[in-house]
Amino acid sequence: MFRVTLTTLIFIYLAVFLNSVFFVWIMWNWKRARQSRRALRYRLRCALCAFEFEDTTTTLLPRCPRCGSLNERFRPSSL
Ligand SMILES: [Zn+2]
Repeated sequence: MFRVTLTTLIFIYLAVFLNSVFFVWIMWNWKRARQSRRALRYRLRCALCAFEFEDTTTTLLPRCPRCGSLNERFRPSSL
């Protein structure tokens, strides 16, 4: 049996606790970013009238339902 001082024991306890909090925070943030990407996957913004719409087709240049212009598939930036 090896001997451990109280200071070392407290240090180990704090290190394990903080590492687990950090790991949970990283996983939560990763999950939140993934959900955000999935929600905005088909969302497009018209370059002409700035109207945001969803297009689930695979067309190269989707047409804006408001003004009818053709748009490239740029992802709208999130705030
Ligand atoms: Zn438009």
